[in-house]
Amino acid sequence: MSSVPRFWRNLGSRYNLEGTRCDECGNYFYPPRNFCVNCRRSGQIEPYKFKGTGEIVTYTLIHTAAEGFEGQAPYTLAIIKLDEGPRLTSQVVGDPEKIQIGTRVRSVFRKLGEDGERGMIYYGTKFVPAEE
Ligand SMILES: [Zn+2]
Repeated sequence: MSSVPRFWRNLGSRYNLEGTRCDECGNYFYPPRNFCVNCRRSGQIEPYKFKGTGEIVTYTLIHTAAEGFEGQAPYTLAIIKLDEGPRLTSQVVGDPEKIQIGTRVRSVFRKLGEDGERGMIYYGTKFVPAEE
């Protein structure tokens, strides 16, 4: 039985940018943690859904795509610092001319890749430049 909630938790964090927050010190965690490294046992960990906005810390243009992503190369892989603090690695879609260090981005729900043999399509979070 215990594997079911874990499955949904992982799915949530991948699809909706769900992480956790420590009520004691206000630190945010993504991927979610159930233990605060600052507060140890006194930390109260609560689920938190990230706003999905942040900025590009650094990025790389990927010319050779991984298996299942062939149709998408070249694409930009970036380290994004969420406004709440945590950093994550994600694909940034959209005009490469608009992608620079410090560019504001927001999360979108897009196709991540597909498994041609099984006909499976994977969806998840990507980022796009936030046009403000
Ligand atoms: Zn804490």
